[in-house]
Amino acid sequence: MTVAVRFRRHLRRLLLLLASCCLISLLLSAYFLFSNSSPSMHLGQSAEPACSQPLSMSPYRQLPYPYPPNPPYTHVHTDAVVLVLVESQYSQLGQDIVAILESAHFQFRMEIASGKGDLPPLTEKGHGRYSLIIYENLLKYAHADTWNRQLLHQYCTEYRVGIIGFYRSTENSPSVLKLRGLPLILRTNQALWDCCVVSSSPLLHLTKPGTDRGALPGEDWTSFLSNHSSYQAVLLARAKEGAAAGSGDNAGPGFSLGLQATVVQDMGLYDGVRRVLFGQGLGYWLHRLILVDAISYLTDRKLTLGLDRHILVDIDDIFVGKEGTRMNTKDVKALLETQKQLRSYISNFTFNLGFSGKFYHTGTVEEDEGDDLLLKYVDEFWWFPHMWSHMQPHLFHNESSLLEQMVLNKEFALEHNIPVDMGYAVAPHHSGVYPVHLQLYEAWRRVWNIRVTSTEEYPHLKPARYRKGFIHNNIMVRVSRIIVNHNN
Ligand SMILES: [Zn+2]
Repeated sequence: MTVAVRFRRHLRRLLLLLASCCLISLLLSAYFLFSNSSPSMHLGQSAEPACSQPLSMSPYRQLPYPYPPNPPYTHVHTDAVVLVLVESQYSQLGQDIVAILESAHFQFRMEIASGKGDLPPLTEKGHGRYSLIIYENLLKYAHADTWNRQLLHQYCTEYRVGIIGFYRSTENSPSVLKLRGLPLILRTNQALWDCCVVSSSPLLHLTKPGTDRGALPGEDWTSFLSNHSSYQAVLLARAKEGAAAGSGDNAGPGFSLGLQATVVQDMGLYDGVRRVLFGQGLGYWLHRLILVDAISYLTDRKLTLGLDRHILVDIDDIFVGKEGTRMNTKDVKALLETQKQLRSYISNFTFNLGFSGKFYHTGTVEEDEGDDLLLKYVDEFWWFPHMWSHMQPHLFHNESSLLEQMVLNKEFALEHNIPVDMGYAVAPHHSGVYPVHLQLYEAWRRVWNIRVTSTEEYPHLKPARYRKGFIHNNIMVRVSRIIVNHNN
């Protein structure tokens, strides 16, 4: 009997012990999970900003897309238009935002942001007029009066519309400030370096995870800090060594001296509104990419860019150029090597070389050897005719002399095994392509059977993002961008 009693007591003690162990471990995991619910924004002082590593513990890693999941009312229609609230018609950041929207062919409406937060009508006959709202100045949003802020909040939650805002610190900005109405603390005027893209961020689409090493441009960076689990870092950078930001002065409670979030996303868990906030303007290239991704994410891919890109690099004037400025054998080998390297990123990447036969072998001895080597590698590249003597086609008024020039270049090509059936040509300085010089199109078709050419003049040279292609006389004119022109 006593043995049985003792055994029962032991068993009870054992069970009690087990139960308390379970409880303690539960408490411990809950503590670690929730006390550090946004680990991306509390990262320690690691020397290397290995963004993805600490985030592997993030409970938000496997978030479904879209997040938060569509509430039942999101059948409400919104137009695919962005409302951009700028500081003035000429403010730089406002223009940068607009340039990105225009380049992506996204529709938008620009308004000057009022101090009180007044907004243009947001709805029309039961549907939303905007799918996204961008504030050039985040403070205009934060400091809007209560009435306007509530109006905007209601619109954003009912129509599932997100907000993007930029904070740019000035000399007069307090070093630490709390954003009105949101559980966010901003730390201003920092110098940062080694910016990395947080790999688990659900907004990434065009942007790939990785680290951009070196100093970030400017010393006026603002970073965001929050204890709320709704906030996740998108970009993290290190405080520059020796800078005030790294010395710990003015550091509020919870500030990490290590990684600083320069872009954060608000998942909408705090008040139902999803936001993406930037701690500087768009001068930094990664901010531009993240903005495009943020637009796509916050509009549930309503305003998005595809991932396919077609790249053609034309190198014209391949034999043209003064003695001493032309390609020698070393340059030709480097060109081939570069092509090889680019092929490891871009399948079938091939340089497209434009030739004017008249100038073949008109360089120094070394440069003439360069010409020969190019022709030895003739099959490695693509080729296009660029007029025999680099004359501008619009200067030829009669078609027969234009034909004559083209025939000379074609004879040169045949003589040197340069392919003549690519169907693509570029006129020197794109002359005669737009405004259309009829004789050029006709001569191209007759001598070369040209089907595609390019220009950067249609309908205007500037700004480049407005350029378009067109078709004339069955020849397709694609948009071109000149990167370098060594002859001019
Ligand atoms: Zn040229």
